Amino acid sequence: MLKKMICSLFRATPVKPVAAASESNASPVMPDQRSLADYFKEEIEKCPFIQESGRMMVLLDFLHVEKLKDGIPLTTDEKKSLGINARLKITSSHCQALTLEGLRLGPKEVMNPLYYRATFDHNRHQQIAKMKSLGILHYSPMTCGDERDCDWCMSMNGKLLSVDVDFVQLLKQNCTCEYCRCVLQAKIDI
Ligand SMILES: [Zn+2]
Ligand SMILES: [Zn+2]
Repeated sequence: MLKKMICSLFRATPVKPVAAASESNASPVMPDQRSLADYFKEEIEKCPFIQESGRMMVLLDFLHVEKLKDGIPLTTDEKKSLGINARLKITSSHCQALTLEGLRLGPKEVMNPLYYRATFDHNRHQQIAKMKSLGILHYSPMTCGDERDCDWCMSMNGKLLSVDVDFVQLLKQNCTCEYCRCVLQAKIDI
């Protein structure tokens, strides 16, 4: 049942805007009203190492419905013949979902950044919306302060931004981290 519902997420996309446009006063969906699954979907669709036919499988993995690592493991010989590092744990499900290049990079390498980026971006949008609802006017991004932070993230550390600034959008345009780990801190004037 849940699986069926999630499967419909991918198919539902082209239908939604048409339905919305037919309503006279339909307002566009605000980022903070999108579900986490929508954020996952967006990241999955952009990833060149996931087969188009495997997108739903990766989504189900991210939503902890059916994990790809629980598929039938490939033998060492099978991995060798595909040019995959024998130490990587690869299953039949990984093979169905990822491209060969993706399998060679490794499922974790391919999937973890997508998972974290979507989860953190979803949280950031929710946080900013919450700040707005509380009447907070500004926030500051705080980096983790290690070598994994990109130059842009480091340059933004502690900067004061209006709650009307969509930090997630800025990240999309500027951040080169594997996935941004910056935390948004509400600026509370006392
Ligand atoms: Zn960054
Ligand atoms: Zn960052």
